[in-house]
Amino acid sequence: MPTFYGPDFDALTRQDPEIAQVLLSELKRQQTNLQLIASENFTSPAVLAAMGSTLSNKYAEGYPGKRYYGGCEEVDKAEFLAIERAKSLFGADHANVQPHSGASANVAVYQAFTKPGDTVLAMSLPHGGHLTHGSAVNFSGKWFNVESYGVRSDNELIDYDELRDKAIATKPKMICSGATAYPSLIDFEKIRAICDEVGAIMWVDAAHFIGLVAGKAIPSPVPYADVVSFTTHKVLRGPRGGMILTKAEHATAIDKAVFPGMQGGPIMSAVAGKAVALAECATLEFQKYAKDVIVNAKALAAALEVEGMRAVSGGTQTHLALMDIRSTGVTGKVADERCGAAGIVMNKNSIPNDPQKPGITSGVRVGTPATTTQGMGVLEMKVIAQLISRAIASDDAATHSAIRNEVHALTARFPIYQA
Ligand SMILES: *Cc1c(COP(=O)(O)O)cnc(C)c1O
Repeated sequence: MPTFYGPDFDALTRQDPEIAQVLLSELKRQQTNLQLIASENFTSPAVLAAMGSTLSNKYAEGYPGKRYYGGCEEVDKAEFLAIERAKSLFGADHANVQPHSGASANVAVYQAFTKPGDTVLAMSLPHGGHLTHGSAVNFSGKWFNVESYGVRSDNELIDYDELRDKAIATKPKMICSGATAYPSLIDFEKIRAICDEVGAIMWVDAAHFIGLVAGKAIPSPVPYADVVSFTTHKVLRGPRGGMILTKAEHATAIDKAVFPGMQGGPIMSAVAGKAVALAECATLEFQKYAKDVIVNAKALAAALEVEGMRAVSGGTQTHLALMDIRSTGVTGKVADERCGAAGIVMNKNSIPNDPQKPGITSGVRVGTPATTTQGMGVLEMKVIAQLISRAIASDDAATHSAIRNEVHALTARFPIYQA
């Protein structure tokens, strides 16, 4: 057996005890609290091994077989495997596995298909869109004319009529679908038809739900979209990073936009981690996981409704639920803080047409990717809903401490990262 030089925690402890302690405490935090942040997950030890490897040392500007540096023969194999696995898993013509993050991938998408000042149509931020979909404080909002569509006020589902009307009126170069807090499925066929009608590029930012697509639990945007960008660390359960899939005709534009357009050298340890994660996603085990994530999210949303909260969009068809918690009498900010004190980690989130400011909100967003990876099921989701409800209802530290003990007992039954 060749010797593999992997992460050496003893060396870190000797050299830098302060940072070593951070790593230990963070592991304990992840093991003992309830992780309900919809964009987080527990990646596998195999992915962590790839990320903590000497591939981190290698400069590999360019693409496999066409690098600007020597010595790339080994990392080329990793990137080639990641590309082939991505194409095969998603049935895509072309994959670029180099973006450092979801936001970086989106910078490349804008660069490949638009020029500063062009019009782009995307989901409005208060209705669930992402910063990179036109926020005034983001490059997208500063450099582009971003028009937005939202959800209908009656059912809180995407208003496709408004989307089409806006598309006809504003003639966008590109129409973006995909969001950070939209619990329902998106009708990609309908959006394709609108893109064809107005001659726009169809861009799907699948950051949140691509893992469910990989696990064949929800329909794929890949057959419809010109370009699909996403993160690899959410439901997909891979390393922190981004990726872009395109039709063959856009392959060169996207590759040039990523490098040299937006980035220098790729993070090859992360690229190897993406390859590992994509192989995991192709297993029947992952397909079962993806279905379970949705079953759990539905159960959690339903159980929170039993506790008097209201699921936005009439419930969830994905891995996350957006709960309108006005009936509890507290804001999203206060609920977030109280749950945090009780060892339940989730986030405040604006609901459509929220009367509160974005920093306060009337809602919370909960997701099930991490707890499902731990092996929790519908029974646990009901328990979690009750714990959340009790934590939100109390402003008493002793009550939160008692709930935290129950959270520790629950998470101890579903251990992660055991030595
Ligand atoms: C998470 C997310 C991103 C950004 O990903 P980062 O890796 O944090 O940059 C982009 N778009 C959407 C829709 C997201 O949910």
